[in-house]
Amino acid sequence: MRFQRILKLAAMTLLGFSAAVATAGAEPLAKQLFGAKTLPAATRPAVHGFYSKGCFAGGVAIAPDGPNWQAMRLSRNRRWGHPALISMLERLSREAAQDGWRGLLVGDISQPRGGPMLTGHASHQIGLDADIWFTEMPAKRMSVADRERISAISMLKKGSLYVDDKKWTPAHEAVLHRAASYPEVERILVHPGIKKKLCDTVRGNRSWLSKIRPFWGHHYHFHVRIGCPAGSPGCKSQNPPPRSEGCDDTLAWWFTEEPWKPAKGPAKPKARDVMTMAALPSACRVVLEAPNPVSEAAVTVAGRGGVPQAATADLPALGYQAVSPASVLSAMPPAQVPRPTNRPGFE
Ligand SMILES: [Zn+2]
Repeated sequence: MRFQRILKLAAMTLLGFSAAVATAGAEPLAKQLFGAKTLPAATRPAVHGFYSKGCFAGGVAIAPDGPNWQAMRLSRNRRWGHPALISMLERLSREAAQDGWRGLLVGDISQPRGGPMLTGHASHQIGLDADIWFTEMPAKRMSVADRERISAISMLKKGSLYVDDKKWTPAHEAVLHRAASYPEVERILVHPGIKKKLCDTVRGNRSWLSKIRPFWGHHYHFHVRIGCPAGSPGCKSQNPPPRSEGCDDTLAWWFTEEPWKPAKGPAKPKARDVMTMAALPSACRVVLEAPNPVSEAAVTVAGRGGVPQAATADLPALGYQAVSPASVLSAMPPAQVPRPTNRPGFE
């Protein structure tokens, strides 16, 4: 116990030191504080704030390997989400396999306690967003090194806004259809070329197309977002997408020059690069200070059945654990998908 306390003190000193160095006396940035957390807040699951401005407690991790998934880029430590999201991913992986998609390659979800990230992503802050590669998982289990190295494959014809029919298969449609069929899934972001492909080819029930939202990037992976879960009064909902299929003028706009013109004027700093704790819901300070769970394993979902008991167990039973010095502040590999500079609004 005493040893643990010493470890914890040492770790806190290290973290404090890194934060001070990084900001040279200024108020620390929220992305540094949240980016330094290696484990979730071991309290009841709760979401605070919005997809692009918030945090969450009671997070669970999706295991690096499950029966029907493999998680990628393990060094980023972004396998964390609200239990409702991780359960949805587990179910999607299982049901997609029945549809003929061997399994999911899981990209970024959230940091252990959410919040803004050191690199990439405006959203993914409240444990309700997940990126899934447009490549089904291989039959063999990839090594940790391969999961860092192997790139996703773009679904587009090189240099165009349109899907490459040599890469697109009925299984791609099926996995998107399956995800969109879940009531908790509110939006799935894909490249406009992929939305157009679905508009042109989906037969039968097309109502699920309303959840498929065209957006920049998202031709290597799709982005699944669930709505605010029960028990999170502090979670700010996003307006639901229009109920129409969205195969209309709003899609045609993406195939004009306007969305692809470079932004005018000097580049504005990204919100995540200036956000301090003052910009986030005040509950996020409590999330940041909350104790760790006893171990990562205790809060990792490894297979069928959803969420481990420990995620919702009584806190004293979990006990405190020493914070290990954060390696997260060191350089991380850049995100694969280029981010547009001229995105209006938010999806
Ligand atoms: Zn995403």
